Amino acid sequence: MKRLVLLGGGHAHLAVLKSLAERPLDGWQVQLVTPFRRQIYSGMLPGWVAGHYAIDECAIALDALAERGRVALTVTACTDLDLSANTIACADGSTVPFDLLSIDTGPEPALHHLPGVLEHALPIRPIEGFVAAWPGLVDRIARQRHRFDLVVLGAGAAGVELALAIHRRALTEGWSHLRTTLIGSADLPLEGVAGRARHHLGQLLAQREIRWIGERRAVRFAPNRIDFTQGASVGFDACLAVTGAAAPAWPAAAGLATDPAGFIRVGRTLQATRHPHVLAAGDVAAYEDARPKSGVFAVRAGPVLARNLRALSRGDAPAPWTPQQRALYLISTGDERAVAAWGRWTWRGAWVWRWKDRIDRQFVARFGADTAAGG
Ligand SMILES: Cc1cc2nc3c(=O)[nH]c(=O)nc-3n(C[C@H](O)[C@H](O)[C@H](O)COP(=O)(O)OP(=O)(O)OC[C@H]3O[C@@H](n4cnc5c(N)ncnc54)[C@H](O)[C@@H]3O)c2cc1C
Repeated sequence: MKRLVLLGGGHAHLAVLKSLAERPLDGWQVQLVTPFRRQIYSGMLPGWVAGHYAIDECAIALDALAERGRVALTVTACTDLDLSANTIACADGSTVPFDLLSIDTGPEPALHHLPGVLEHALPIRPIEGFVAAWPGLVDRIARQRHRFDLVVLGAGAAGVELALAIHRRALTEGWSHLRTTLIGSADLPLEGVAGRARHHLGQLLAQREIRWIGERRAVRFAPNRIDFTQGASVGFDACLAVTGAAAPAWPAAAGLATDPAGFIRVGRTLQATRHPHVLAAGDVAAYEDARPKSGVFAVRAGPVLARNLRALSRGDAPAPWTPQQRALYLISTGDERAVAAWGRWTWRGAWVWRWKDRIDRQFVARFGADTAAGG
């Protein structure tokens, strides 16, 4: 029997697993290799920090989804790939063979250039690591009697949402001694998003007394201090590192074609440029039509990946895909309101939050137990 291995339980593989639950692949053994039994939906993580959701409401059970698709689950991470033997080396010491490989392992946190960061800061990824550590940080903030300085390093959508979510949590928990600082490399938060949304969020940070420090590039962490290429160091009691997406080292080391940052180059069929029996989607992939790293594109790639894996398993030609030009940004502001940005257009208010909340809950529910057999 031939073997299809799904590496990583990311957004695109959720659609593949759901498709397999609806219709198995004849004549193929399918195996999912991923380090956690559940997938936390990152879009709802700031809502969990703010206190709007319980963690179970943000989680998709990969083990149950795999079982419904008759997919064997191996709970470990890939550490290496051998493309001459077609095997994956795993963190638990096992070796997994494949005939067809699909990779959706997401990004690593962009921290390689920051000595000391892993010792002195809490990275947002892996998300399970953050989820495990956050209650301890909540406890430390609650117990400290004097001022507590919390720094969020990284001012993309995730960093901004987290800073605003923490502000909301501080209000509800009565942490009047908490001072939050958001630090980014551009002059305003949210580089790449339309100007009006950036200005609005900048104003919101100021109104909520979240200190904004722009145009800073961190170079090193010491205990309770970040140093920058220029400007004064910033001290902290705790720091969350939300510094964007980096590529894992193993795809390039294995000989897969990658872009200069190390992300796997794939053509329009999602097949790796030099290795057509390897497919990749989501943040780990560098699409032929380059797109920003965003859950939106990982989600959109899912049905395409499912169809093309099915076609390749039957010896049929896979179909090409062109990702949409733009992604809709829905940025929650911690107070059950949100800002939407679509190209130049911006909307905001409580209705935007209700819209985001509905989309996010529906996404998680789509992969839940009672919808597995549905369309
Ligand atoms: C706080 C936060 C909020 C965000 N909000 C949004 C948002 O609202 N909208 C949006 O579009 N984007 C958002 N993003 C970005 C979004 O999370 C990513 O773009 C998205 O997760 C990418 O999906 P993916 O499928 O590529 O990878 P992921 O969702 O990261 O999934 C990767 C999977 O692979 C597994 N894995 C990792 N390494 C290995 C390995 N070595 N071997 C095997 N398995 C492995 C992981 O455990 C995980 O199951 C947010 C990010 C954060 C941090």
